[in-house]
Amino acid sequence: MIHRILLLMFLVGCASSKTVVTSTTTSPVGPVPNPSTMTPTAALTATERQIVAAIDPKNAEGLALLERVVNINSGTMNFAGVRQVADILRKELDALGFKTRWVDGAAFGRAGHLIAERTGTGPRILLIGHLDTVFEPTSTFQKFEKLSDTTARGPGVIDMKGGDVIMLQAFKALESAGVLDKMSITAVFSGDEESSGRPLSLARADLTAAAKKSQYAIGFEDGSGDPRTAVISRRGATNWTLRSTGIPAHSSQIFRSDIGDGAIFESARVLDQFRSRLSKEQYLTFNPGYAIGGTDVRTDSTQAGGSAYGKSNVVSKAMSVFGDIRALSPKQLADAKSTMSAIAAASLPHTTSEITFDDGYPPLAPTDGNRKLLALYDQVSRDLGYWPVVAVDPMRAGAADVSFAAPYIPMALDAVGLAGWDDHTDKETADLRMFGPLTKRAAVFLYRLSTSPPR
Ligand SMILES: [Zn+2]
Repeated sequence: MIHRILLLMFLVGCASSKTVVTSTTTSPVGPVPNPSTMTPTAALTATERQIVAAIDPKNAEGLALLERVVNINSGTMNFAGVRQVADILRKELDALGFKTRWVDGAAFGRAGHLIAERTGTGPRILLIGHLDTVFEPTSTFQKFEKLSDTTARGPGVIDMKGGDVIMLQAFKALESAGVLDKMSITAVFSGDEESSGRPLSLARADLTAAAKKSQYAIGFEDGSGDPRTAVISRRGATNWTLRSTGIPAHSSQIFRSDIGDGAIFESARVLDQFRSRLSKEQYLTFNPGYAIGGTDVRTDSTQAGGSAYGKSNVVSKAMSVFGDIRALSPKQLADAKSTMSAIAAASLPHTTSEITFDDGYPPLAPTDGNRKLLALYDQVSRDLGYWPVVAVDPMRAGAADVSFAAPYIPMALDAVGLAGWDDHTDKETADLRMFGPLTKRAAVFLYRLSTSPPR
């Protein structure tokens, strides 16, 4: 999962939203009960019991594989390391009968992606993993370290090599129960989830192509760290640039009918109206991260900065403001863009303002389809004797690759991977008690989806 480091501050509010999130976002309270004390209910079928029984005997093998891939540095820009992790997963997938291929990432400036496919009689399920981590070779955090019988620390141990391995272990159990051959699966392991290549249209082309032919999308990210939650919605991220102009003149003449208010007052007007019109909308945030204004403005889009020259006694000629928007649904994003554009267009005398938008992650909206998928997952969890599962509050979910699948897929769910805490820090830790139970839950879930009617 990506936790974007923002230069920016949020202007957050709540009220008057048209986007409805159901009460399934209520967070679970208290520590997670130990899964080893829980027993499956009678609701599991004979095949599902076979799948479940195949998992624990292979947990040690799975954890050894996890240790092996965590010990390979695969920071996004370490292309050789990303490739090495892909090669290890690929061998496992080949052995399970998947057709695998490596998509080279030269065209979008990254290592590339591993894609594994198989076709059976069931509806196609898109599974999403990633090979890279936020820890480049320069990081001091490089190795898997067992902290206790139930915890292990390491770069990517939950985000998301743990999820990748859970996916593989689930496949192995489905194979040993004799049902993998009937399943239609496309698994996409991105090599650049933590820092996507550009253009995004190329970097995510294989993921969106896979989404277009699939009925379900399941992300194996680590999520909130609590196995009693999953993700059905994530806010998208779009950048914006506001450019205002004014007429330079002696400061003593500002506001004169032929000179006007200057660029900086014009930008200030726009920003203030953004705040007064939009800051109370639930799940919408927008933030001016930095601003440069004066008589001579130079911006550097690659360095996220720039320089300005101006004098206190000269009416400002130009102002540029750079910010982002986070929105929960495509409609909320479109409405916000149109309000912001209209505000920018209503310029003060002798000034102009123009706002442009650059879309990054699309929103993963909390659709009815996603809620139904969560209900199926919740049922699997209960049938296994584990915890009920509710949706994570989207204000607490970062951006992730499943969002790119969202516009093309009727049902999506994320965060079914390995639970733990402190991802993206050098304390990233996996809760190893969850490894077997979460593999069982994923395997039975995939099996049930594969036996559901095709769309
Ligand atoms: Zn991740």
